[in-house]
Amino acid sequence: MAGEPEDDCLFCKIVAGQVPATVVRETDTTVAFRDINPQAPTHVLVIPKVHYANAAELAAAEPAVAAGILREAQAVADEDKLESYRIVFNTGGGAGQTVWHAHAHVLGGRGLQWPPG
Ligand code: IMP
Repeated sequence: MAGEPEDDCLFCKIVAGQVPATVVRETDTTVAFRDINPQAPTHVLVIPKVHYANAAELAAAEPAVAAGILREAQAVADEDKLESYRIVFNTGGGAGQTVWHAHAHVLGGRGLQWPPG
């Protein structure tokens, strides 16, 4: 059920400490950890502790938590001393979403092309 931990969700398992991750920040409502397959020198995922399939569902149900993800993205950028960075919410398989628990990619530390691929 939306908002509840899902047994077969990788990111719920990271939140629960059942799967190891390189956690860089944690708040009451979010966890930030390094992506296992980094696409830039900084590639951190910021996720809500609650389970929603994507960012839009999270924002509709728990807007304060969604806003917290953006604050945490900035905090990650500050900690990694990024002057520029990109926040990406892949939403749907056609956009590259592979994990169905809302997450922001925070990417930086190299030049980033526009438009993205
Ligand atoms: P998506 O493709 O936008 O859904 O992003 C999922 C991200 O999770 C990908 O960038 C993966 O590399 C990353 N990922 C998958 N498994 C793990 C893990 O166990 N730890 C950290 N990142 C992971």
